[in-house]
Amino acid sequence: MVKLLILPGDGVGPEVIAEAVKVIEALKRRHGFACELDYGLIGGAAIDACGVPLPDETLSKAQAVDAVLMGAVGGPKWDQMPREIRPERGLLKIRSALGLYANLRPCFCFNELAAASTLRPEVLQGLDLLIVRELTGGIYYGQPRGIVQEGGVRVGFNTERYSEPEIERIARTAFDLARLRKKHVCSVDKANVLESSQLWREVVERVAPSYPDVELSHLYVDNAAMQLVRAPRQFDVLVTGNLFGDILSDIGAQLTGSIGMLPSASLDAQGRGLYEPVHGSAPDIAGRGIANPLATILSLAMLLRYSLRAVKLAGTVERSVKQSLASGLRTADIARPGERVVSTSEMGTAVVERLYEQEI
Ligand code: NAD
Repeated sequence: MVKLLILPGDGVGPEVIAEAVKVIEALKRRHGFACELDYGLIGGAAIDACGVPLPDETLSKAQAVDAVLMGAVGGPKWDQMPREIRPERGLLKIRSALGLYANLRPCFCFNELAAASTLRPEVLQGLDLLIVRELTGGIYYGQPRGIVQEGGVRVGFNTERYSEPEIERIARTAFDLARLRKKHVCSVDKANVLESSQLWREVVERVAPSYPDVELSHLYVDNAAMQLVRAPRQFDVLVTGNLFGDILSDIGAQLTGSIGMLPSASLDAQGRGLYEPVHGSAPDIAGRGIANPLATILSLAMLLRYSLRAVKLAGTVERSVKQSLASGLRTADIARPGERVVSTSEMGTAVVERLYEQEI
């Protein structure tokens, strides 16, 4: 029996999570998905109830389950609190306590929404790539760092730093994921300038022969950024460090339109993970029942695929989302002028109805 922890969080978090839970219940009833749900507090909701953004109880529950599905945290109510106990700290703490070093950001284009992108539809039709970003190392954590006085001027500096085991771990994650997809890894670095990137490339090359069925290529990050907007369909899995991944994953997000459609995952070495929509708690629309639940439902599909290896169930959820869009259903964020707009729960119900129609 699979165990999942649900962390609704704040703002639109509980609203979009409620729709993902409807999908889980449908998978149980219609497709024999054996799963037990537990719930926990995180973010502002946890601050209100317990005074801290990540209660010990939530963390120990997260450590005991197969995967965690989260809504979003934060909001104006907690913005004036000291940095250490703000809602976002809960998220950073749970990521580091669970050792989630691999951040997965898929970019795929639902052809029904291709017109919403700033790129031409023909560049995007059929787009399906996955950015694997190293999340716990690199320049965001490297020492030394700081701002100092040197010869009467202030100098700011940071250190880009990767060890062989850190590179090998994320490379293996990327190769493993490629095996579930089109079996191509493109490693992104700046090996023509940076020693840390030279080591990165060397280690990725060393890992590659363990995956003879997966093709490996390399790109410098500047070229990768250009290729992502020029011809994004050439990619399957892109693997890169923390800083480059941060930037490239936002380019990837912009390729496909609304933030309300974008799922994400953060995985540990065993493939256990935290799954969440890319968007935040959207306080401007919270409580109105108009948020798009599809990013969260697609995060659930990632959970099924990557932590539970339930590839068929994941495909069923993704197809149900696609069919809901194909039948013309749009929440406000993805509707074009004149299109009928549905609520958060109408969109969730539509996905559930399509799940019931499918055979696996
Ligand atoms: P946001 O992602 O919450 O909202 C940005 C814009 O996108 C808003 O206009 C919002 O209405 C819209 N939007 C977001 N999700 C949507 C959805 N599902 N459907 C339709 N529209 C949607 O980013 P923000 O406004 O910068 O941040 C709001 C709060 O969320 C802040 O407290 C921030 O710290 C927090 N935040 C949390 C996370 C997280 O939990 N992972 C991520 C980003 C921001």
